[in-house]
Amino acid sequence: MNDCIFCKIISGEIPSERIYEDDDMIVIKDINPQAPVHLLMIPKEHYADVTCLDGNRAAALGRCLAKVKDIAEAIPQLKDGFRLINNKGESAGQTVSHMHVHILGGAYIGDKLI
Ligand code: AMP
Ligand code: ZN
Repeated sequence: MNDCIFCKIISGEIPSERIYEDDDMIVIKDINPQAPVHLLMIPKEHYADVTCLDGNRAAALGRCLAKVKDIAEAIPQLKDGFRLINNKGESAGQTVSHMHVHILGGAYIGDKLI
């Protein structure tokens, strides 16, 4: 996916603040943070969004989500909690068509969804 900004970040063509990497994903700091801690969990395989999941992708995404505990525990600001968000499509505000999950926290971010 030559034009995909997240593929370029994964390959290193575009720099990022990478805080974690394994075979399935990278986790980077969002360039435009919406909370004191705003991370992006980005599967290495390019696919547009959650509706593109098949069995293999769901298994890989499951392995990514299973790492959230360790990633969060390594960041003291997330000790009181955090929120995961996944946007699909224009009306949800998805701007990068490469599946990713936002991890937001580091302050009281409210008890409402948005
Ligand atoms: P979404 O709106 O759900 O598609 O989220 C895309 C996110 O990617 C936004 O929060 C952007 O701030 C973030 N973003 C875009 N470009 C970069 C980049 N080069 N490095 C880090 N985060 C980025
Ligand atoms: Zn991509």
